[in-house]
Amino acid sequence: MSALAPTTPYDYDRWSKVVPMDRIPFLVELRNMILEQSNTRMPKWRVKYTPDLAAVIQPRPEYAVMRGKPVFLWIAAQGEHPVREWFEKPAFRPAGVVMMSGAIRLRDAAWSFRPRRFWRRKSTGLDREAALAFRDRVFVAFQTTHLGGESSTTLLSAHCLICGRHLTDPISEVRMIGPECAGRHPALPVIKVPITGPVEEVTHG
Ligand SMILES: [Zn+2]
Repeated sequence: MSALAPTTPYDYDRWSKVVPMDRIPFLVELRNMILEQSNTRMPKWRVKYTPDLAAVIQPRPEYAVMRGKPVFLWIAAQGEHPVREWFEKPAFRPAGVVMMSGAIRLRDAAWSFRPRRFWRRKSTGLDREAALAFRDRVFVAFQTTHLGGESSTTLLSAHCLICGRHLTDPISEVRMIGPECAGRHPALPVIKVPITGPVEEVTHG
């Protein structure tokens, strides 16, 4: 499935071009919860979408967005069994893992998705087809995946999505939010603890 069918105004040949994106209400609400608590301290969301696709998304403070900066920055990794360390130390990335970074901008109430960098270890140059396919996967994951609830999406490390603190109990890990932050936001819009289903193991950093 391609998120970016050639019928869109999108120039399919350029993997790094700006792509219109639907606003993701859940990410907006989550970011707003963070801004209620801090104008500067933005936790990173380390999300595992599938067994071979993960991303770190970081919301940006409001003062930066008002100056035209991105509302979210992201780095995505594609490779089997992604772990948090891939995003922090290049030496931890096995050969074959591909990385892409970019931004999500807010302009005139519309979102846009912009890949900026594409790389892998020992790269012999940019493989355009691979970059396009990878970009599409990242776009679809961001655009269509919800966290928690019925979703099989998990975190690469057990840290609260709102305050960034380490999560210590299974309920919090499934909810992806610690008890204090959950208490402050009793009507969390999307993240719900599943009633049934196994708790996936969370890789600790
Ligand atoms: Zn928290």
